[in-house]
Amino acid sequence: MRVPLHLPPALTSLGDFAFIDVETTGARPLEDRVTEIAIIRFHANGEQTRWQSLINPGIPIPTEIQALTGITNAMVRDAPDFFAVRDDVRRMLEGAVFVAHNARFDYGFIKNEFRRQQEAFTADVLCTVRLSRRLYPNATGHGLDAIITRHHLDGFDRHRAMGDTEATAAFVQDAADELSACTVAAAVRALLRTPSLPANLPADALQDIPDSPGVYLFYGINDMPIYIGKAKHLRERIRAHFSSDHMTPNDVRLSQEMRRIEWIPTAGEFGALLLEGQLIKERMPLHNVALRRREKQGFFTLVGGSDAPRLEWLPAAAMDTANGDLFGPFGDRSSAKKWLMYAAREHRLCDHQLGFSRPRTVGEPCFARQVGRCHGVCEGVESGTRYSERLLAALEPMRFPVWPYEADVVLEERDVANDRTDLLAFDRWCAMSGGVRLPFDGDVFRLLRRTIGKAGHTIRPLGPVHPIFASAAVVFSMHG
Ligand SMILES: [Zn+2]
Repeated sequence: MRVPLHLPPALTSLGDFAFIDVETTGARPLEDRVTEIAIIRFHANGEQTRWQSLINPGIPIPTEIQALTGITNAMVRDAPDFFAVRDDVRRMLEGAVFVAHNARFDYGFIKNEFRRQQEAFTADVLCTVRLSRRLYPNATGHGLDAIITRHHLDGFDRHRAMGDTEATAAFVQDAADELSACTVAAAVRALLRTPSLPANLPADALQDIPDSPGVYLFYGINDMPIYIGKAKHLRERIRAHFSSDHMTPNDVRLSQEMRRIEWIPTAGEFGALLLEGQLIKERMPLHNVALRRREKQGFFTLVGGSDAPRLEWLPAAAMDTANGDLFGPFGDRSSAKKWLMYAAREHRLCDHQLGFSRPRTVGEPCFARQVGRCHGVCEGVESGTRYSERLLAALEPMRFPVWPYEADVVLEERDVANDRTDLLAFDRWCAMSGGVRLPFDGDVFRLLRRTIGKAGHTIRPLGPVHPIFASAAVVFSMHG
């Protein structure tokens, strides 16, 4: 082991870094528990603090884990439980960047241990696997063993918390020696995407944002939100608004007007998407221009029979009145027309027939025909029936799918990491609220289509369902 460990000032000038490693009873943050924690905190002033403890997990350690870590049930029997050390752990981590190898693992476990004490914990997280990938893109492995071999960092007590923490810190130190401290600091800054806090927000405004999915609201000087957004990871998304390398002109404007942030966690993307839509509709924030465009969405519908087919535009709000098949959805009428022009060229369809132009005399060839791009339905060279078949083939990729269920369904969205479940109802590709089907929304449709049939979601019929069915994976019948 190399002593003393130190981090170069180029790095610590960015703030305090708490290197941490936890040993656990297994890999599942909700069921498994922490058996050992080690933390080395490198302070911005150059000092460092160390803390470590075995932790009584309150559940047995599986034999294979005991063999891997060398931490036995006997060793933790008299150790303090997490409750007893929680203040020490918080003191060591609070206000520092949380640094770990494969940090999601350690961060998830620490968060959950705090949650069991009814306490929240959040931190900026730096993963040294990602740091290694960024600094050494051509290296073959980024696991701790591979890094130890590559950087000749032998002698650490591997698989024990302090040994792995030291090895991780030694890696960062060695990379700074090898590549220069500035290179490592730049990579760390980029990975943390350190946001520049809007001038009118309190210094700790971004501190407590959870990393769960959800909806966030930015407020200006009064009580109306100026912006509402949704996120898969609230913390990351909100901070991205204020990261200098990602700021859009809109973000700059928001940043100047902002006085307050609010967030509402959800169990997943769906819950966030639906809640966002609902809140925007209710509160009409000034800067949510993009979302209001949803009202312009629509479909093509095919009318006129098979020998003289005609496409008509149908606004999404009127989709239930369609007699024929629907093709779409399209964001608005002009993007639908753009798509159709492209398809017309590709499939050699007729300008007159599609309504791009009008014949001045009966049987006048369309422009596409004149340049040899239409098969000649306009001149009577191609039969209406044949043309109709080809038109259908061209539209096929945009065919709006049939709702695959017999009735409304409930989708159970679950966030395992944050132990949260939302129940969301849908009918014919639309979300429902209070038993009422909401207007069609292309984003909901696309997400729903992607989700149906994917693992990790439970879908069941809406309505009074006996609790015995509540956990059954599939209790619906599909059409066809
Ligand atoms: Zn033509």
